[in-house]
Amino acid sequence: MMYHLDENLKQSAQNFPDHTAYIFLGESTTYAELEQQVDYLAAGLAKRGIGKGDSVALMLDNRPHFVSAYYAILRVGAAVVPMNPIYTPREISFILANSKAKAVIALAALEPVVASVKEGLQDLELFIYTEPVGDELTIDQIIQEQEADFVTPEMSEDDLAVILYTSGTTGQPKGAMLTHRNMASNAEAMGILFELTPQDRMVSVLPMFHVFCMTVCLNGPVRYGATMLIIPRFHPVEVITTIREQKATCFAGVPTMYNYMLQVPTATKEDLASIRLCCSGGAAMPVELLHKFEAKYERIILEGYGLSEAAPATAFNPLRGTRKPGSIGVDIPGVINKVVDPEGNELPRGDVGELVVKGPNVMIGYLGLPEETNAALKDGWLYTGDLARMDEEGYFYIVDRKKDMILVDGYNVYPREVEEVLYQHPAIIEAAVIGIPDEVHGEAVKAFVALKEVAVSNEEIVTFCQDKLAKYKVPRQIEIVTELPKNSTGKILRRSLRK
Ligand code: AMP
Repeated sequence: MMYHLDENLKQSAQNFPDHTAYIFLGESTTYAELEQQVDYLAAGLAKRGIGKGDSVALMLDNRPHFVSAYYAILRVGAAVVPMNPIYTPREISFILANSKAKAVIALAALEPVVASVKEGLQDLELFIYTEPVGDELTIDQIIQEQEADFVTPEMSEDDLAVILYTSGTTGQPKGAMLTHRNMASNAEAMGILFELTPQDRMVSVLPMFHVFCMTVCLNGPVRYGATMLIIPRFHPVEVITTIREQKATCFAGVPTMYNYMLQVPTATKEDLASIRLCCSGGAAMPVELLHKFEAKYERIILEGYGLSEAAPATAFNPLRGTRKPGSIGVDIPGVINKVVDPEGNELPRGDVGELVVKGPNVMIGYLGLPEETNAALKDGWLYTGDLARMDEEGYFYIVDRKKDMILVDGYNVYPREVEEVLYQHPAIIEAAVIGIPDEVHGEAVKAFVALKEVAVSNEEIVTFCQDKLAKYKVPRQIEIVTELPKNSTGKILRRSLRK
């Protein structure tokens, strides 16, 4: 079968028409109903001039409209440009211009922002909102037109499906171009790994505009006819309640979500009894946190790894067989990972080098940026910018991001190693480590920690680290904070700490 996201929806609607596609605020929608909405919406978009080769910006939080708009854009043959609704006008205007978006489908609350940036964007013609604002068109209005005069254009798996803007630490965001083959192959690989069936009920609380949620909690369930439990935003108690009441079977989260769920004092293992697997990705899962979560809830966490440019997953711990805490697991079906030296030669097992990836999930390039594309894609391998090693059994370990490495007296310090030690301290809830300039040593290690309500001095934390780390890795400075800065997916932002 051809790898195509919209084809997946059509198949599920045909095979499981009465099965629940999603539940949102207690209301269920079947696959047949979803398919009908997507059809009407696609017809309405096509009638207004959106078609093959166009791109459409989607600026929505998690809600049913995200699902129907996403698939309608794909159905007309256009590419989705998902955007975080909290982006600043400057970021929004850059992405709209760079992607040459022809239409915007956005939260009604964003109308003033869109109105303020649309001047000067020649490609932008169509504006659609979640609720009425002035005379603007709404998503429901288009669906209610019940336009039927629409023929699906010819589809290929090489068509662009999504343009994902990655933040990039310097300069402007880059648009990773992902085809239907990229996206659908990854949704399928994740489904095989998790053994997804129509009986599964997947919690969709990670933001859908982020590729982790898009593949694991949206495209995956749609591919296998499973049910999505859509939650607008993460609140640990609410998520645990949804899991219990809606009998969720799968949960996908970033490590900080597991940390918050662990801290809920009233929650017990009975609350998560229906869950058959939890998966974690997007950032390193501290081993201590994994053990504590698994002990409290008696549910397993499968850690995996991915990045936007790989749609996203490349490696995962297996559902059956050995799971290794601290490891991102092994190659997912159809994808190869390897660790290379700066010249691109594969390194012996155990050696640390850059992780590179090959597979049907790897992007075709960055939109309009041939130099960046050539730097990221060499000989068909995607250079991830992450340092890793592989063990004797083919399990990969992310050591850290290449650019986050700290150099103390010429020695490499990987923030992650120090953070793993800090997480073992009973008073520490969260930790992040960065390098700061140091006149004598070049750089020094600085740790930011959030504490439980117990008194602990900086000296005690340093002593704790001294027992477990070589001297040059021990934090020179410790700053206690109430909470660490995170992005909308819940990833801890070391780069904000550096500022
Ligand atoms: P993004 O493209 O925004 O999804 O970010 C991808 C980056 O997240 C990767 O390049 C890694 O640095 C990081 N990452 C994702 N999963 C993991 C993991 N399991 N362990 C460590 N880092 C991870």
